[in-house]
Amino acid sequence: MTPIRLALVGLGKIARDQHLPAIAADDRFELVAIVSRNADLDGVAHFTTLADLLASDVAVDAVALCTPPQPRHALAHQALAAGKHVMLEKPPGATLSEIEDLRQAAAERGLTLQTTWHSRYAQGVAPAREWLADKSIKSVRIDWREDVRVWHPGQDWIWEPGGLGVFDPGINALSIATAILPRPFFLTAATLHVPENRQSPIQAELDFLDVAGAPIRAEFDFLQTGPQSWDIAVEVESEDTGNKVLKLSHGGAKLWVDDVLLREGPDGEYAGLYDAFARLVAGKASDVDVSPLRHVADAFLLGRRVVAPAFIE
Ligand code: NAP
Repeated sequence: MTPIRLALVGLGKIARDQHLPAIAADDRFELVAIVSRNADLDGVAHFTTLADLLASDVAVDAVALCTPPQPRHALAHQALAAGKHVMLEKPPGATLSEIEDLRQAAAERGLTLQTTWHSRYAQGVAPAREWLADKSIKSVRIDWREDVRVWHPGQDWIWEPGGLGVFDPGINALSIATAILPRPFFLTAATLHVPENRQSPIQAELDFLDVAGAPIRAEFDFLQTGPQSWDIAVEVESEDTGNKVLKLSHGGAKLWVDDVLLREGPDGEYAGLYDAFARLVAGKASDVDVSPLRHVADAFLLGRRVVAPAFIE
């Protein structure tokens, strides 16, 4: 099989930590170009803009966009217009409407567009979805707490409009919740704590109801020091077996039921994403799911703003 000739756009943390190793490990892909304003990679053609790459004689079938969300639509549109398949890092963009524009542009041209949600490929997520499929959900509790100074040093874009602030990691929790819970859910209230010197929230509390009335509480925190938590606990009720609690910890990597560890395994999130992308390209299909971003948009629509102390990195 001829490999998919891939260009990586934006050579930052996630591109280096996850995309480069996942591409190198998958022989369905050949990395043929890097687009970066500041960095290059030995042995791979380098361009400072996507336009320069598209105008060059380097043949490219697909691009993976690893920039922050704000410039992503313009880059994706340019790539689709040039006939390239597109993988979008999460969140897929800065607005919902721009994703719809990309979905249509890809469909009109018969190209693949993939909105990636890497946390859905964590080891515990698929078995959690299976386990919950026939259960009656009583309540859900999401705690997504990390130290922004450890995980996002120097990433000023995260604090700008469209950067999502604490929803940048929080949307990973929402991508898991939308994948594992058997019923849709919607926001009923939210509080967003926005530092007085920034544009995006540093903490958030969110209350949802699922369509059968089960409460879902989510708390996102960028100021967590000490142990970090990326946990989702789902309480289910059953007349036969009594209530049980399913828990996904470590961002979905470990699955527990009533404190018994049922599943853990090696990190295969980006291997899973690239496997899915290769299959989509081969099948001339797209996967465009905005449901996690829609919940974030709802929080920004309905959320009560509270001014928080200035954040100085
Ligand atoms: P990052 O370290 O700041 O890297 C982003 C790269 O994008 C920068 O190095 C820059 O690359 C390029 N870039 C920045 N602003 C740009 C602009 N206005 N126009 C064009 N290119 C621009 O950020 P990151 O952590 O890799 O995150 C990138 C995306 O991946 C985000 O959407 C994030 O949510 C997602 N993500 C991150 C992680 C993580 O653990 N960090 C995990 C999963 C997903 P050049 O200087 O090379 O041009």
